[in-house]
Amino acid sequence: MHLLLPLLLLEAAAQPATGRTPEEIACDNPADSDGRPFNLCVEETRFNRIQAELDAQLKLTLASVEERKGSAVAEALRNSQQAWVNRRESECQAFAATMPVTQSGRSYASCQARMTEVRIAELKLAAQPVSASPLPFTLKEIGPGVYAAIDGPERKALSNAGFVIGDDGVLVIDSLFTPEAAQALVAEIRRITPKPIKYAVNTHYHADHTGGDQVLRDAGAIIIAHKNVRGWVRTNNINLFGDRLTWELKARVESLPLPDVTTDKDLTIWLGSRKAVVSTVLGHTGGDLVVSVPDAKVLFTGDMLWRKVAPNLIDGSVEEWSATAADFVSGADAPQTRYVPGHGDVADAKDVEEFRAYLLELRRLVGEGQKAALKDDALVQHVAPKMRARFADWAISDRSIAAEVRYMNDELAGTKKRPVPEPD
Ligand SMILES: [Zn+2]
Repeated sequence: MHLLLPLLLLEAAAQPATGRTPEEIACDNPADSDGRPFNLCVEETRFNRIQAELDAQLKLTLASVEERKGSAVAEALRNSQQAWVNRRESECQAFAATMPVTQSGRSYASCQARMTEVRIAELKLAAQPVSASPLPFTLKEIGPGVYAAIDGPERKALSNAGFVIGDDGVLVIDSLFTPEAAQALVAEIRRITPKPIKYAVNTHYHADHTGGDQVLRDAGAIIIAHKNVRGWVRTNNINLFGDRLTWELKARVESLPLPDVTTDKDLTIWLGSRKAVVSTVLGHTGGDLVVSVPDAKVLFTGDMLWRKVAPNLIDGSVEEWSATAADFVSGADAPQTRYVPGHGDVADAKDVEEFRAYLLELRRLVGEGQKAALKDDALVQHVAPKMRARFADWAISDRSIAAEVRYMNDELAGTKKRPVPEPD
């Protein structure tokens, strides 16, 4: 992200002509290196230097906000500054405590530097005049008063969401990944209708669909989810990021709101005379809901459907999932139904069939590879080119196909790990 840029610039400026950084020179001296391995000493010292420069930048930014925005805004910022300093301290200490002891100094320092960068960016934003920035999604009216918010090619929203306007209120489906994207969604709803935002349904616990929940709750929504979501949203989401987990993501996941209303049965939500049906379905995580709006022939599927994008099978069961996908297109209304997938553009019944074919073909090819005793990379090499040839207009990254093959292999071998429901 753009936030890394200042770090890189600071680093470039610090390179001396000799090619050795001041940190490397300092860490040569055993008295300075404090018993730490050389490379950790260098990193920690580097982060401390960056931190000092960032703190100076932070002071300047605060001063510039005061100048541009007047004393009232500046005073509010100064008041929040001490709370922020305390929060930085406690969050970074907690983050460092989760790391191995040799890494904790480096983790603490890098956490402080990244938090300060974020704070500077926020302050700079506060100093700017309010301007209409482009939406992180494309809003599509796909039925009377039924809207799909579809993530764009820049993947700013990271998933899709939607909303339904009834006689006396609004029901939102999913909250996108970032609070900013959820704020944009709320702003679009407010632009279209003055009716209150009453409910938000989480289709499942994954953070790219629940990350903006607090914004929806602040806007007035009661958050409805499958009963397993309460036990998973703050914990299992950590696994979703794998090696891409940062302290920021971890902190965000751990502070996600827990749903207010949970169910393991179907529900009907009445928005005045308008009916929305929330149904429990099997396949993607073990805690999935879909929302249909019968009068508009729209089905919000969450991640039970991906349109021309390789699906994430991390928590999935292809066995259950392919059966649910078949159900989606078995009703009499299917040919006229518009499906809002979790990822990819608004879909029709043909897209659902294609998605199901994708799952079944993946299973067939992985099974074929297993019979030929192929493992790991060799198995991926057996499956990936064939999937890409058959689903030529799909976005199938190397990372996703490798993960899909691994998860499919585990499912067929009977070793697939899926999230376990918490006891009631
Ligand atoms: Zn998901």
